[in-house]
Amino acid sequence: MKSNNIIQKHYKNISYHTAKCCPYCKSKEIVKYGYRFNHTKKKQRWKCKECSKLWVVDDGFKKIKKSRELITASLNLYMSGLSLRKVANHIN
Ligand SMILES: [Zn+2]
Repeated sequence: MKSNNIIQKHYKNISYHTAKCCPYCKSKEIVKYGYRFNHTKKKQRWKCKECSKLWVVDDGFKKIKKSRELITASLNLYMSGLSLRKVANHIN
């Protein structure tokens, strides 16, 4: 219970969706630059004023095409003891 609260506070304090610096040139001169849309969600896109490159902050689901709910549900089933075949049957 206590560790759960700590994890939630930690998650709230560190926002995984805000960029702090440019991943290419490490410049702090960055601005929000519209959104990038994929199959499941729209993501904040950032632009560097120094090198004018665009990027999206990696939130743990980078380059993944399935929905977040499906991935977390199947991981939860696998971690709770079901075999991969049973998880696949359940998802199908
Ligand atoms: Zn840059």
